[in-house]
Amino acid sequence: MTIRELLSAHSPTLSYELFPPRTPAAESTLEATMRMLASTDPDFISITYGASGTTRSTSRGVVQRLAESHTIPPLAHLTCVDQSRDEVIQVIEEYLGEGVRDFLALRGDPPQGQTDWSPHPDGLRYAYELVTLLREVAATHGVDNLSIGVAAFPTQHALPQWRQQALDVLRSKQDAGADFAITQVFYDLQQYCGLVDDAREQGITLPIIPEVMPLSTAKRAHRAAQITGVPTPAELIADLEAAEDDDAARAAGVAHAARLSRDLLDAGAPGIHVITFNKHDAAVDLVDELPLRKTQS
Ligand code: FAD
Repeated sequence: MTIRELLSAHSPTLSYELFPPRTPAAESTLEATMRMLASTDPDFISITYGASGTTRSTSRGVVQRLAESHTIPPLAHLTCVDQSRDEVIQVIEEYLGEGVRDFLALRGDPPQGQTDWSPHPDGLRYAYELVTLLREVAATHGVDNLSIGVAAFPTQHALPQWRQQALDVLRSKQDAGADFAITQVFYDLQQYCGLVDDAREQGITLPIIPEVMPLSTAKRAHRAAQITGVPTPAELIADLEAAEDDDAARAAGVAHAARLSRDLLDAGAPGIHVITFNKHDAAVDLVDELPLRKTQS
């Protein structure tokens, strides 16, 4: 079943995000992580897509392995960064040939060391163009069950000066053929509810799955804030710093993430997408706290 079908059939979904391993050691850790995550019977696992050729081919390898194993459906992230339109088409065709049907269409972050984003001279500029391209390539190959996700940004939408733009961009992705959205990380329930309420009011009907990040160290919390530009709440940092050891810090981070996830599910969120940092422990501890497991471990 594709994610689009899952979202209309049995909400709420449980899913995880992984990134491509960068070393052989990281690869074998990832195998173990995936086995542990699989034990919670997730609906899908998403695999991020980097800016360099090496991490891209590793991402493709992980997606391919998941697709071939027919166990957990992969959600393949795809970006517009540093690739011509033809190169993007080739990646889409390879994925379709491997049976991948779920894609997360993103503009992508600039390559490391670059602050500004600029499109490839023969490439795509915005995520909505990638949604359109995915639909076109699928149609050319007679694939009629494609399921496309896009990014949504609750913290950006919470800023009055960006609110309407965040909604306009989300609508352009829906109009191009997106089926659902996954949010960037946030820590305030009202930011998610505000985005969903305003989207519905303006005719944006996409299910919006919130991303939740169980943070297990203050260092990771600082790094996450740096990467996403979303500040980690001071209270969460204080709890992570006050913890006596690693286990206590993880428990504190999981408690924060569990509170937010329960509130989100109570508010009607169609699923929870858990950021794992390629480690299973905090993610599985979080899921143990939520009414999302379809099977017991
Ligand atoms: P877009 O929707 O294209 O927006 C990019 C910018 O262009 C925004 O400022 C938007 O306001 C503006 N814009 C969009 N459409 C228009 C228009 N029609 N006219 C004028 N302006 C417009 N990055 C990666 O590199 N790899 C990943 O795997 C990855 N995974 C992610 C997963 C999730 C769930 C999220 C939330 C983000 C992820 N990102 C990833 C980061 C993401 O690519 C960046 O945040 C990027 O800056 C924005 O991507 P987008 O898809 O929202 O782009």
